[in-house]
Amino acid sequence: MTSATSTCTCGTFTTTITGSFGDVRYCHCSRCRSKTGTAFTANAKIHRSQWHLDGPPQSITEFEHTPGLYNAFCSRCGTPLYARSDQDPNDIRIRIGGFQGNIDVTITGHVWVNSKATWYEIEDSLRQFDEAYVDASTD
Ligand SMILES: [Zn+2]
Ligand SMILES: [Zn+2]
Repeated sequence: MTSATSTCTCGTFTTTITGSFGDVRYCHCSRCRSKTGTAFTANAKIHRSQWHLDGPPQSITEFEHTPGLYNAFCSRCGTPLYARSDQDPNDIRIRIGGFQGNIDVTITGHVWVNSKATWYEIEDSLRQFDEAYVDASTD
């Protein structure tokens, strides 16, 4: 089984993901851009059982930015750990940029393209979605 690890900027946490990162999307929504300071994020939806934390759980802060929707990050350095939803308790969404190692990833497209930064041009041939990509497999 493949695995990949990511350590937060201050070193408090190391996160390991086992198995496939599966369906990864580039998200251009304004929230992702604001949180990261970048044009888009690369997000993978994985099962909670794939996510392993090496570090003190009490040092994770979960911020409820919208009722039932949370972003988790290192309380000390702010490195994002995951996003989760009360409506989908079995899955978490992780940003894959910081992971090292043999990552099994399939990029499936750009989402929230109607919120894209005006200064960024998409120049690949991946599918583009104005808003969220509707994934039939999660229905
Ligand atoms: Zn940290
Ligand atoms: Zn986003």
